[in-house]
Amino acid sequence: MMMSITDKQDLVYYLNCTGQEEEKLFQCAARVRNQHLGNNVYLRGLIEFSNICRKNCLYCGIRRENSPLVRYELTDQEVLAAARYAWQAKYGSIVIQSGERNDRSFVLRIEALVKKIKQLTNQQLGITLSLGEQCAETYQRWFDAGAHRYLLRIETSRESLYKKIHPNDSLHSFTTRLQCLEHLQKCGYKTGSGVMIGLPFQTTEDLADDLSFLKSIHIDMVGMGPYLEHESTPLYTCRQSLLSTTERLRLSIHMVACLRLLMPHINIAATTALQAINPLGREKAIAAGANVIMPNITPFSNRRNYKLYPNKPCIEEGAEEALRLLSENIAACECRIAWNEWGDPQKAGCTDLAAKPITPDVPESGRVQKPIK
Ligand code: SAH
Ligand code: SF4
Repeated sequence: MMMSITDKQDLVYYLNCTGQEEEKLFQCAARVRNQHLGNNVYLRGLIEFSNICRKNCLYCGIRRENSPLVRYELTDQEVLAAARYAWQAKYGSIVIQSGERNDRSFVLRIEALVKKIKQLTNQQLGITLSLGEQCAETYQRWFDAGAHRYLLRIETSRESLYKKIHPNDSLHSFTTRLQCLEHLQKCGYKTGSGVMIGLPFQTTEDLADDLSFLKSIHIDMVGMGPYLEHESTPLYTCRQSLLSTTERLRLSIHMVACLRLLMPHINIAATTALQAINPLGREKAIAAGANVIMPNITPFSNRRNYKLYPNKPCIEEGAEEALRLLSENIAACECRIAWNEWGDPQKAGCTDLAAKPITPDVPESGRVQKPIK
């Protein structure tokens, strides 16, 4: 059974399909992953470094103006202990994620921490950063210190929608976001991006364009998940217009499957926001072609304050019992956890899928028209 996606119409069709077609889509995506990458699922232990953020994204629970929120920053000891745990538990990699800061002390502290983690783990633990927009020099500094992957979601590739979900100021610029992705790729990072699914004002056509966008910039890794409305954010006023959470989950799994067909070699995460809607949401994504899971290994006392969206799972994810369960669930999807491996994506943008590349839509101003690299 071969499914081919040759244009935007096909994408919209598969994003909306149901019943047997949907089953076929998921199976085909899982088979494409297995053919190109094997049935490995890679773990990245997620360390939520701090909820202090200089930005004010209209959807995010840790935005600057959410003032009742108790702000925290992990100590060096806490970060190093979490990294050591991930190394000893054979995760292979960690992700350090945080609210955005670009002051000098933050930049230097991250640099020092990356170096220490590399030393502590005999250079073995892979380090991904997800620390927002920074200048090219900072990205280079952190890369030279030993981080080799970076996640920066575009959130939506439609500039007019990006403007609707961010404040209208220079700190929240779509063009800067694109430039940051370009800088990351130039530094040599395996670069990850992604979008939120089910945003207010978003259409299925937008989501199809998001997938074409990710392909057009030859992204190495993708994390996409459902948008979940947070009551202490301005975008909460748009909640009446949203799809149900079940629909958003379904659409997210379809996005994963379609992306796998478009980009067989990249890493695609089964994101935590899927799990916030359904306890087995991540496993559904694995069964539809995803190959990365990010168990939370943030010290337990800080987790409840890193609430980007509501119902964020706060369970003891890194614990042995939870890992055993996760491993069983992954086996039920006919996959296996690849312990102790970085699991870096292969050459970016490889497509030897029978389907022709999809034709990018007519771009809006500012949208990347040719590959960044
Ligand atoms: N500050 C960094 C990293 C932390 S935010 C950055 O912005 O890149 C990580 C991701 O959380 C964001 O890219 C966004 O896609 C997601 N996120 C934030 N609020 C969300 C919400 N309400 N629902 C779903 N995802 C959300
Ligand atoms: Fe800050 Fe990232 Fe949330 Fe935006 S999405 S407010 S940058 S943590």
